[in-house]
Amino acid sequence: MDVDLTQLPIPDWGLTCPGCGYLLRGLPTHRCPECGEPIAVEELVRCWTRLRAPRFTGHESPLPDLGLRCPTCGEPLAGAVGSACGHCGAGFQIEGWQPRGAWFIVDSELCGRLPIPGVQALLAGEGVPYFPMTEMTVGDIYGGRSMMVARLRVPSEFYFEVRWLLENARRDVEAARAGEQKQWRCAHCGEVNPGHFEVCWNCERANDA
Ligand SMILES: [Zn+2]
Ligand SMILES: [Zn+2]
Ligand SMILES: [Zn+2]
Repeated sequence: MDVDLTQLPIPDWGLTCPGCGYLLRGLPTHRCPECGEPIAVEELVRCWTRLRAPRFTGHESPLPDLGLRCPTCGEPLAGAVGSACGHCGAGFQIEGWQPRGAWFIVDSELCGRLPIPGVQALLAGEGVPYFPMTEMTVGDIYGGRSMMVARLRVPSEFYFEVRWLLENARRDVEAARAGEQKQWRCAHCGEVNPGHFEVCWNCERANDA
């Protein structure tokens, strides 16, 4: 998802002038009116900058494939109309899935067999804001190994979009394995990956073929 970072006036992205801290929202030029500093927006945008609204709120009807299952009958809720399961007709509350806090954690429990580096690349490419959370092991501290991003923190308003992106990625992986779409074979572990994955979903190494 492409966002034009040079657009004017500067949108409400929460960016501030690096020189004086002036809030840049609504500014008609790329120069700070307070201190005169030239503003390079692309240098101020970070992976956690909210550049757009989420694609889904969970209140879409029919419901997109968010990987949710009916609490009553266990069948997928994708395609459900008006908060009623399309299989058994039971009502469901989408709010029951909505994370309570300001953030939710994207970890191996949510991602299943999709590796976190691959999911991180996916969110970055889609413009979903996130904070990488690193976990240091004793080996990292004393062995000088590079730190692995083990989890991501994402604003809760993006929860349903992230579920949708993960569902699509899972389907792509399955389709690639079944030989149904463009794919590449990992030189390190031999696993088959969907053509647009930059990182092997199995061993987390880049496609350097
Ligand atoms: Zn300034
Ligand atoms: Zn049902
Ligand atoms: Zn691999």
